[in-house]
Amino acid sequence: MLRSALVIALLAGLMPVHAQDAAGDAAAKVLPQVTAWRRDIHQHPELGNRETRTAKLVATQLKKLGMDVKTGVAHTGVVAILKGGKPGPKLAIRADMDALPVTEEVDLPFASKVRGKYAGQDVGVMHACGHDSHTAMLLGVATALAGMRKALPGEVMFVFQPAEEGSPPGEEGGAKLMLKEGVFDAFKPDAVFGLHVFYTLHAGKIGVRQGPLLAGSDRFKISVLGQQTHGAQPWRGVDPVVTAAAIVGQAQTIVSRQLDISKLPAVLSFGIFHGGVRYNIIPERVELEGTIRTFDAAMRDEVMTRLKRVAENVAEGQGAKVEMEVPMEGAVNPVTYNDPALTARMRPSLERAVGKDNVVDVPPNMVAEDFSYFAKEVPGLYFFVGSVPPDQDLATVAPNHSPKFFLHEKALDVGTRAMLTAAVDFLNGANKTSP
Ligand SMILES: [Zn+2]
Ligand SMILES: [Zn+2]
Repeated sequence: MLRSALVIALLAGLMPVHAQDAAGDAAAKVLPQVTAWRRDIHQHPELGNRETRTAKLVATQLKKLGMDVKTGVAHTGVVAILKGGKPGPKLAIRADMDALPVTEEVDLPFASKVRGKYAGQDVGVMHACGHDSHTAMLLGVATALAGMRKALPGEVMFVFQPAEEGSPPGEEGGAKLMLKEGVFDAFKPDAVFGLHVFYTLHAGKIGVRQGPLLAGSDRFKISVLGQQTHGAQPWRGVDPVVTAAAIVGQAQTIVSRQLDISKLPAVLSFGIFHGGVRYNIIPERVELEGTIRTFDAAMRDEVMTRLKRVAENVAEGQGAKVEMEVPMEGAVNPVTYNDPALTARMRPSLERAVGKDNVVDVPPNMVAEDFSYFAKEVPGLYFFVGSVPPDQDLATVAPNHSPKFFLHEKALDVGTRAMLTAAVDFLNGANKTSP
């Protein structure tokens, strides 16, 4: 009986890595449910601030576990607190629930066929960032922890967050709105944990880094104002197309020539260059928009200052003017920063959960995450869970946000096991060195 179960587990690729401790056993027990939830949520993805079905699924399960559940937090967020049987620390664990305006191209029996509206356009909707798995894994962790409630010291707050990928235009949302609505006011955790499935690692692996892990992201806008004229007579006006092109060109020297990137990397990219209506009319204005990614507050300020200086001076040199929003208000994610002491403390737990060799150091990554807002309030730990099939080349894999993004379900086992083990160890005060 046991042997056949073992064979099935091996065949399914879901063999527990370390089944000898209670957290590992509990993780293995909830894995079939986690897998079922993940597939269900995957098939029914919802865009940011519209996660009503997902929120209902989450709330129903948490209520079944006997928790006090708050819904409608920051639009569709769900928050529940589990009280352990003994006094102890307070921990928050966060999962994001939203999907993306991407049309799924993965051949799965539970692939998304859902369509929705995004910025006025009819779009496919897909869990192309893997938040379906995050939600399912946190539900699994909540289920497992509820099962060991009596023996558990402390309290855990489960934070199911909407709109990590950003809110629809004109709406607030995400981690920032949850905090604004006071999610950490009455229950101030001693630490917050989060994870993300990621395409840079094979399934089975966990990636972590002390200090800055994900970039802070800023959006900027520069309007270049010229003077409209006939394309045949440029001397009669001021050409904002040429000025904007020069600004884009000069701005490339900010990261490559002016910033000390031996400290930490930085990126400045333009994504919008928009102007004109007709081929032979030099337009009045050109709009530039882009993103800045940094890992350090001083470097961030420096990029902003230098970008403004480049834009102003290039424009002045050509007789044009600029209007600038550098950075644009409300379009910011801080750096996702892993508290060094907390990360060092929890690393042995991650290693015990999935095997020492399977926990690897990763370099800082230029993507951004609004988990950073939670980790600005209290010490944070955020780690990557590899999503790539073990036999696939990492160099050619479809990244998160691609219509071909594919999650190997071994990631569900690894993520649930790692998060649960880290949570139980944290609550029990394991590996604590400081007084
Ligand atoms: Zn994403
Ligand atoms: Zn994501």
